[in-house]
Amino acid sequence: MRDTAPNSWEARADANSLYGFTDLPSVHQRGCVVLTHGKGPYVYDTHGREYLDANSGLWNMVAGFDHPGLIAAAQEQYTKLAGYHAFFGRMSDQTVMLSEKLVEVSPFEKGRVFYTNSGSEANDTMVKILWFLHAAEGKPQRRKILTRMNAYHGVTAVSASMTGKPYNAVFGLPLPGFIHLTCPHYWRNGKPGETEAAFTQRMAAELEATIIKEGPDTIAGFFAEPVMGAGGVIPPSAGYFQAVVPILRKYGIPVIADEVITGFGRTGNTWGCQTYDFMPDAIISSKNLTAGFFPMGAVILGDALSDRVQAASEAIEEFPHGFTASGHPVGCAIALKAIDVVMNEGLAENVRTLTPLFEEGLARLAENPNIGEWRGKGLMGALEAVKDKATKTPFDGSLSVSERIANACTDAGLICRPLGQAIVLCPPFIMTPAQMDEMFGKLEKALKAVFAEVA
Ligand SMILES: *Cc1c(COP(=O)(O)O)cnc(C)c1O
Repeated sequence: MRDTAPNSWEARADANSLYGFTDLPSVHQRGCVVLTHGKGPYVYDTHGREYLDANSGLWNMVAGFDHPGLIAAAQEQYTKLAGYHAFFGRMSDQTVMLSEKLVEVSPFEKGRVFYTNSGSEANDTMVKILWFLHAAEGKPQRRKILTRMNAYHGVTAVSASMTGKPYNAVFGLPLPGFIHLTCPHYWRNGKPGETEAAFTQRMAAELEATIIKEGPDTIAGFFAEPVMGAGGVIPPSAGYFQAVVPILRKYGIPVIADEVITGFGRTGNTWGCQTYDFMPDAIISSKNLTAGFFPMGAVILGDALSDRVQAASEAIEEFPHGFTASGHPVGCAIALKAIDVVMNEGLAENVRTLTPLFEEGLARLAENPNIGEWRGKGLMGALEAVKDKATKTPFDGSLSVSERIANACTDAGLICRPLGQAIVLCPPFIMTPAQMDEMFGKLEKALKAVFAEVA
């Protein structure tokens, strides 16, 4: 299967590229998949093989890989102003227009936007904004950050510290002052006999006990993905945000929704916080923001925070933060077009239309005795592989069951992602019902083949 010739794309990839988040034994055996082009939801490799990408690239290519309107928006902006920054009281017209648009489509009455190059930097920036704000308001001790186990907030030193994954221990992270609450995954973390409502109450009680133990005036903010993404597509237990948000409000702790995956339609509404009916103080956006056509992130500050941060900046004459490419005009032009495409060209609508089909497909595959549960919201879903369905016992980690399923899918021309022992699906918003059938058909065959080997 692997092309081992020294001048092959696979060998050249190995020789000079450091792979991120890649199972190296698997890539050594199978070789890297080197892609050359894309069409709709499909990508093509150097051997001419076609893959249906059921993960929208990395959750972000929601309009497919060759959307003509997005390509044209990029080309047009490159001919006008190919790059600029947003320092020293200058910014591009595209940046002004995108900020207006983001505030308009946000759940906030008014607000202000700060741009980064990625979701990690947007979370990092938000933490710095909170530290800056609390210090300016005479509460410099408010520095601790609350997140949840299994949360994924990125890879910079701060956003990796917010991430609730054990793999960050190899970097000596998290930094001190980053506190991880229990992951509100009822199926996995509920106690025997505990109802979902009681579980949610336990999560809320843990939050309040943690706040009191740490000292309410030492906490800078609480960050949460409305649906955890890279933690394995984990929707919160029923009533979770209704239970925790009032507690955070009671102690004056800002609530930040990390909507890097859930933003712009993924869960069926523009924002995940709308799907789960809670109002954050700020929103973190990236990934879908440019439909994956440009690296860009945004911090969208809501009504109150926006005014407070502006006042704190006025008091010291500037907000001393920014990236060279913050508010890049091409990125902003693409984001403006991406928002228009998703909201006005039927993509958001297609998410709502496809969701029942998607849920049906997941539920059907979850009838397999080695699938413990299916879960998801809108067009993000997961199937959790288990050795024993009744006891929810996972497979031995050394069997690499989810990796084997994903590899079997790749061989069949379907890209999906192993996450822990789950298989994650996050199809692009342009998917057709026929492509959804293709996705579930290929995945079903792969599941059967791998479970026959290991079960
Ligand atoms: C991907 C992701 C990030 C990090 O974004 P990068 O652009 O990879 O830095 C942060 N938060 C969530 C919820 C994400 O899914």
